Amino acid sequence: MPSDAAGSLRDSEQPVAGRSAGLSARAHPAIRLHYRARAAAYLNMAALPLWWIVEEGFRAELAAVALWCLAFPHLARALAPRLGNDRATEHRVMQLDSANAALVSGACGFALFPTAVMVLAMLMNALINGGARFGLAQLPFLAVGGLAGAAVGGFTFAWQASLGASLISAIGLVSYVLLVGLNAHAMQVRLRRTKSELVDKSRQLEEASLTDPLTRVRNRRWIAARLAETERTLREPLAFALIDVDHFKRINDRHGHAAGDAVLRELALRLARAWPAPHDVVRWGGEEFLVVAHGIDAARLPRLAEELRALVAVQPFPIPGGESLRASVSIGLAPYPFGPRLDRADWTRVIDLADRGLYEAKRGGRNTWVAITPGPGADEAALADRPLAEAESLGLVRTIRPSTIAPRD
Ligand code: GH3
Ligand code: MG
Ligand code: MG
Repeated sequence: MPSDAAGSLRDSEQPVAGRSAGLSARAHPAIRLHYRARAAAYLNMAALPLWWIVEEGFRAELAAVALWCLAFPHLARALAPRLGNDRATEHRVMQLDSANAALVSGACGFALFPTAVMVLAMLMNALINGGARFGLAQLPFLAVGGLAGAAVGGFTFAWQASLGASLISAIGLVSYVLLVGLNAHAMQVRLRRTKSELVDKSRQLEEASLTDPLTRVRNRRWIAARLAETERTLREPLAFALIDVDHFKRINDRHGHAAGDAVLRELALRLARAWPAPHDVVRWGGEEFLVVAHGIDAARLPRLAEELRALVAVQPFPIPGGESLRASVSIGLAPYPFGPRLDRADWTRVIDLADRGLYEAKRGGRNTWVAITPGPGADEAALADRPLAEAESLGLVRTIRPSTIAPRD
């Protein structure tokens, strides 16, 4: 009878001891996994020649075959660590299983039912563990084992085995099939568990790849995917606000990198609290953040800008060591979609406009904002790469700054 059918194991399982290990070393997981089933199967195999002795009288060759069957699984386990101690070693042991099964069949006179049970079980075992090729590789071993068996039992063939021998084989067959079923079920359960673990892991990885580890807000990759989706489903105007901390390098230089990190974390927190979902707060890179405010059109950009500026400038930022420091930001803003004649699908162009506004805000002395809104003649093609002042004089854009709106306030 075969060893444990369908007894698969993970390739990552490593042998505890290598080729040089002694008899006491632990066998490879594949060998250990099959050991118990193999020992039980060989008990069943040994019972056949023993039963033969009961029926036909004592013959030393049959007793030797029975003893060999009782000893073989334990020998295989003990010697495996010295014979490679890997999956290939277990495969060689399985080939010896085939030879042994044929040996027992032959020694017991090649009765049809016990022989068929053993050959079938050996081939099934090989197919499950090593595929069609490994199944074919059993044939020479079955042949050699059969010849050795014939040398013991004679070149005979019987259509029918005795009742006792048939019973022993039937017990072997039933236990084998049950074992295959149980193992297949255990494997299915393990596969299902592994699959759901993999799905969880990949979700976690996906989540991590879209989140900034320092500030815990979303990153540029996330907003790019979201805006690409928004391009198709947009139902309300959006406002892009690019926010850059002023003289951030000085904060790092004067108070240390940890203080810089604390400011970034606090800034992200303030932004996220002030602009929760459905608005988006994104770490655009370094000390720059992007706020995508939903439902804010060009006319409401100044108010948004002033709110964002005040969010930073009014309250000092706590830093490690119990101190706090004042910071400010410059902000560039643009509405999306940008005017009726510009292609609303290209959000990156609108971010570019917000970036131009940010540059103007820095030029204008920092702690301020500049909004770039569509002018009366807004035209995407005409706007491309034109200096802002020229675009404004052509009526392609209209620049709004605090000074523009101050008189009206
Ligand atoms: P400006 O007002 O013109 O924006 O000047 P700035 O100093 O803010 O700009 P600059 O681009 O010269 O420096 C940005 C600095 O931000 C440089 C970089 O070391 C720092 N920085 C970028 N990412 C991080 C971060 O995650 N943590 C810290 N502590 N510093 C960062
Ligand atoms: Mg910057
Ligand atoms: Mg900066």
